[in-house]
Amino acid sequence: MPAPSLPLAEASLDLEHCTSCQACVELCPEVFGWDEDQELPYLKTSQGNEEDLRKAAAYCPKDCIQVTSLQRKTP
Ligand code: SF4
Repeated sequence: MPAPSLPLAEASLDLEHCTSCQACVELCPEVFGWDEDQELPYLKTSQGNEEDLRKAAAYCPKDCIQVTSLQRKTP
């Protein structure tokens, strides 16, 4: 299994103040999916590229996205 070359981070979503702007889905589609019925984003997976996740968190107008860095394991 190849070692991940990019820093990984864990994402969590608090949608209480979400405006359904979909910025997170556009910026980091590998982690954030879009629920058409509820018109809210959801987490496809809890982990993703840290840079993309931090960008999504920075663009979220309501600070719904929390990003936690994960330590890379060395073989
Ligand atoms: S960027 Fe923030 S406010 Fe916009 S859809 Fe995603 S979680 Fe909701």
